[in-house]
Amino acid sequence: MTETRSTCPYCGVGCGVIIESQGSQITGVRGDPDHPANFGRLCSKGANLHLSASAEVTQQLRLLQPMYRAERKAAPQALGWDAAMDMAATRLADILQRHGRDAVGFYISGQLLTEDYYVFNKLVKGLIGSNHIDTNSRLCMSSAVAGYKQTLGADAPPCCYEDLELADCLFITGSNMAYAHPVLFRRIEQARAQRPQMKVICCDPRRTDTAAFADLHLALQPGTDVALFHGMLHIMLWEGWTRPDYIAAHTSGFEALKALVRDANPEKTSQLCGISRADLFEATRLFATSAATLSLYCQGLNQSSSGTAKNTALINLHLATAQIGRPGAGPFSLTGQPNAMGGREVGGMANLLSGHRDLANPQHRADVAALWGVKDVPAQPGKTAVEMFQAAADGEIKALWIACTNPAQSMPDQATVRRALERCEWVVVQEAFAHTATCDHADLLLPATTWGEKTGTVTNSERRISRVRPAVAAPGQARHDWRIAVDLAHRLEKRLGDAPQGLFPYPVDDAEAAVETIWNEHRESTRGRDLDISGLSYGRLEQPRQWPFLPGQSEGKKRLYDDGVFATPDGRARFVAQPYRAVAEACDARYPFALNTGRLRDQWHGMSRTGSVARLYGHVPEPALQLHPQDMARRQIHDGQLVRLSSRRGSVVVPAQPSADIGLSQAFLAMHWGGEYLGGHSGTGQRMAGVNGLSQSGFCPDSRQPELKHSAVRIEPLSMSWSLLAMAWLPNDSVWRVREALRPFMDLFPFASCVPFGRERVGVLLRAASHEPASDEVLRDIEALLGLNPQDCLHYADRQRGQRRTALLRQSGHDQLLEGLLLAGDTRAEGWLAPLLQQSLPVQAYGRQLLLPGAKPLAALPTASRQVCSCLNVQQASIEQILEQTGGSDSERLQALKSQLGCGTQCGSCVPQLQRLVRSVPLVSRSV
Ligand code: SF4
Repeated sequence: MTETRSTCPYCGVGCGVIIESQGSQITGVRGDPDHPANFGRLCSKGANLHLSASAEVTQQLRLLQPMYRAERKAAPQALGWDAAMDMAATRLADILQRHGRDAVGFYISGQLLTEDYYVFNKLVKGLIGSNHIDTNSRLCMSSAVAGYKQTLGADAPPCCYEDLELADCLFITGSNMAYAHPVLFRRIEQARAQRPQMKVICCDPRRTDTAAFADLHLALQPGTDVALFHGMLHIMLWEGWTRPDYIAAHTSGFEALKALVRDANPEKTSQLCGISRADLFEATRLFATSAATLSLYCQGLNQSSSGTAKNTALINLHLATAQIGRPGAGPFSLTGQPNAMGGREVGGMANLLSGHRDLANPQHRADVAALWGVKDVPAQPGKTAVEMFQAAADGEIKALWIACTNPAQSMPDQATVRRALERCEWVVVQEAFAHTATCDHADLLLPATTWGEKTGTVTNSERRISRVRPAVAAPGQARHDWRIAVDLAHRLEKRLGDAPQGLFPYPVDDAEAAVETIWNEHRESTRGRDLDISGLSYGRLEQPRQWPFLPGQSEGKKRLYDDGVFATPDGRARFVAQPYRAVAEACDARYPFALNTGRLRDQWHGMSRTGSVARLYGHVPEPALQLHPQDMARRQIHDGQLVRLSSRRGSVVVPAQPSADIGLSQAFLAMHWGGEYLGGHSGTGQRMAGVNGLSQSGFCPDSRQPELKHSAVRIEPLSMSWSLLAMAWLPNDSVWRVREALRPFMDLFPFASCVPFGRERVGVLLRAASHEPASDEVLRDIEALLGLNPQDCLHYADRQRGQRRTALLRQSGHDQLLEGLLLAGDTRAEGWLAPLLQQSLPVQAYGRQLLLPGAKPLAALPTASRQVCSCLNVQQASIEQILEQTGGSDSERLQALKSQLGCGTQCGSCVPQLQRLVRSVPLVSRSV
């Protein structure tokens, strides 16, 4: 077995991993005990990474060779790399020559490595001479970038992870860290256990696991963050909790801000934000008067039409109270993606340039042109993500090159995105996985390498650069992203008459040497800038290092601005006085609910990778819309009932689920459920696009980040007379192919979802509902895909009543087990048949009763219960049973769970939920 040190490819925590491999196969993964981000810990996503790289997943879900579609919607055909790249370059050159350099857009990803990003940026801005390159980091971090730059003068998070342990007050706002940055949350749990005096405040409209952990939860109304922060500053001023000495010595612009917050009195703030005055006062007191206050924030601030204003209003509080530049204090933006920071460093966005330079600055453009050896870099800002797809939908952009991201799932307003993809003359998708929604729209598919195969660097939230290393060779014909971009550049140099030549002199056949050369070029671009790494060599990255890292230093800088000198021309931080503005799309009588989107604990973004690991569905197995129980009662919606959720842009049909964690007139749908998993048609023949069929593209005027966290929606209960449940265990070497083959059937029904299930064995579950029965032909096709062949199955059909039941049994020793099942028409028997199948319980005693409408289980079945611990598959029912018999303090009861069931002892991702259960499940009787 070989061990390779690398990093996790999911969130911005940037955990170090040790990849175990044998030959060409990744076989295991564990946390790197020496990596300073995680010290050996991994969350549930990271701990299952190796399963996403199994031979079965690679064979069934990876894109392994270039593919071309002669016509849209046709099946793609394989072709060689040379032919594919020739075709790509010829088509792009033709479009550029016919329509000009702004006719092509590049949409790339915060999951690319810094070197990939660097080359793409140089290709577009240096070679093509356009700035139409943007990235999915626009959906994630651009408000944080704009916020830091407006206030502190540079896009540099001033804090480090060690501050989590040193803070006296943690102000977590717009972040469900327990799900989104779990390993950092473990560090917080440990810190508070050691220093119980540490206070945690959480601002979030939902009572998330993070909010439940906090000492104080401010359940503010969606989008009112700026009003809250202004209200807090008003109180700080009134109470004399600001630091006039610091303000006078190190900042500018405070008078204007003071004037702005004069009206933000506690009464007005508490009304607007929907929180009590006492809580507002207490949060403000803790923030301002604690010895060290650290803010931690993420998409709740960033994904907003006031994203930059939310960031600056929060940073204002740190500046006004001097809670910055000291251990345990500062505004700490948690990056969503693994390399959102690296992308920013190389300027891989439509308004940025290499080395944290600004496109709008003529000197910066000249610097970069000189570094690259080109005449100039165009001054006109490029189209940002939303604008780029809008321009493509309007016919202004004619070609899109998409790398390592899935905009047909993740971008807001999917109707426009899909129109853009359809209208473009030429769409190239450079991807590792073949099953993303965007792949369906590509003319040309180029197979890319991914985690475990790539080499290069990434930067995490605390400015720490880590090496990414390959454990195995690229499968099939997959190539590194930077190499594909360099190949395209070389071919475009020949085809574009006036193109600068020789910009990409990298040894493409030696990946390590090429990546080091690219990194050295990037390093040179940082010299003299805030992120200066000119003191680092590629070799010194054997250990993860923070930037800046200046010549002569032995370590990077942990914390910024400890001298009170900021990255502005006069060295003073700037207060920003932006008024509170309501969300872009107000709720009204037609769309009365505020839809919030966010993460699940065990899934990542569009699920291209986590979606290939069946056990990661254990915690939340299927899509559901969460609503407050009172809202459900008022609308007479029962648990599990289908509802139509509609915004001004589209709709989805989804089961409703009560949750007291959701505010009144609010709704929550996880961001992961794209059309690949939550489908159906709209009734007018239109395919539903999942959660982002609803979300809106209204964006922040400064950061151009769209307001993915809020859309006005309407919710209507539905009652459909016919439903379908089809599920079966499948062989590992076909399960993913079957799920992909079932996907088109989702389009036949007003509601459908299709997900894998299982752990050691894996199966697929297709659920659908309609106002009329599906045809026999459709049902037979579904049965055939699931291996439910009539000659091998128990089968019953009543065509007149639209009823059909099929059950596949397997002999196992003395028992018969249910291997597969289709219920069509009346599916209420799912309640006992599905557990028989999923728990592999003997069914021989049932005989044909398995098929009889109205039949009941012969004996009580083990209670179906929600999974809490994904590592050891511990269910909520078992946890409740222990808690009902265990007294003591909260920590003693938690310890009892850990020692008796093992839950919470592995990756720890379930600990926040265990703590909630400890608090909510009373002692009934002491165990004897
Ligand atoms: Fe990966 Fe989890 Fe670490 Fe994030 S916290 S980097 S998802 S292991």
